[in-house]
Amino acid sequence: MERQPDGTLRAEKRPVVLTTTVSRVAVTISSSLYESLQKGGEDPNLAVLAADVLAWDVDFYQDVRHGDRMAMVVEKVFADGKLLRYGEVLAAEYDGSATGRKRLFRYTDPSGQTSYFDEEGQSARRGFLKSPLKYANITSRFGNRTHPILGYQKQHEGIDYGAPTGTPVWAVGDGQVKQAGWNGGCGKSVTLKHRNGYETVYCHLSGVAVSAGKPVSQKQIIGFVGQTGMATGPHLHYAVKRGGVFMNPLQLKVPRDSPIPPAGMEDFRAKIAPLRARLEGEVARL
Ligand SMILES: [Zn+2]
Repeated sequence: MERQPDGTLRAEKRPVVLTTTVSRVAVTISSSLYESLQKGGEDPNLAVLAADVLAWDVDFYQDVRHGDRMAMVVEKVFADGKLLRYGEVLAAEYDGSATGRKRLFRYTDPSGQTSYFDEEGQSARRGFLKSPLKYANITSRFGNRTHPILGYQKQHEGIDYGAPTGTPVWAVGDGQVKQAGWNGGCGKSVTLKHRNGYETVYCHLSGVAVSAGKPVSQKQIIGFVGQTGMATGPHLHYAVKRGGVFMNPLQLKVPRDSPIPPAGMEDFRAKIAPLRARLEGEVARL
């Protein structure tokens, strides 16, 4: 828009050419990721993109330490030479004292499905197992019911699985043991803390196989089905909490993608090779 000599404004429409380049962005974190990106001359909104991609490997509320490093290979969309927005994150690496080194690559398989994977082709989105037991037989669902021992209507804040005493119980996801041992009506129990504010609780165990403070990985055996505490027979009471509120475990919308199948690994390795080189700082053409 231009002001004319007679004071009126004249506007004209012209096409803007968008160009996309692929850049490597690397920062060492001093305070928050957001501030570190800002200091590095990047749009701090890139922190949000990074958090989305790395959410299942890095808990950006708890895991970020002074001196951690993050690198990304990201598309930048320019209009008239100015950064308009970021495009896709093609690769991301977080190397932190609390997290270890985590690397993810964006990959589109021959059928057109796109997701993020680590170098071994494992999906970045590790959700929870559908069930903490190998053979699950639900005997009581989430919601209102008459409590079998107390006899009155009470919200059932988890689900019950009928299973013989001694059946192994799995951690539904990676996390840390918050509590292990006797826990009132819950009997011998285990409580796990997971990323993004989730907690899972396993009650009435006959035995506990982990101790408080220890890390656990998905499908690790954390205890065995029993009938300790307030239970009328051997069963597992399993509950999921987020931010202190119990949730229906059967309605969790936690992403769960499969790894790259063995037949697809060759294509996967070929496609991520240039991204890996770029992530490591080599000036490769993409
Ligand atoms: Zn129950």
